[in-house]
Amino acid sequence: TYVVIDNCIACKYTDCVEVCPVDCFYEGENMLVIHPDECIDCGVCEPECPADAIRPDTEPSMEEWVEFNRKYAEMW
Ligand code: SF4
Repeated sequence: TYVVIDNCIACKYTDCVEVCPVDCFYEGENMLVIHPDECIDCGVCEPECPADAIRPDTEPSMEEWVEFNRKYAEMW
């Protein structure tokens, strides 16, 4: 899955939401999140983010961000 990290806070762009083919972005408290079970790992959102806030969970230390994204995505 891809995850949104805190660089997203206060970013007003939603380019990532518009390109996602499976609509798996959700609104968190002050940033967007990705539902980790719905993301199909296509990667098209990553270069669209002007804040460099979207990362693959294969990067180091992403486990907590995956759980953070899941928590807020599942509130919807
Ligand atoms: Fe959506 Fe693809 Fe980004 Fe996952 S990697 S959030 S499916 S655009």
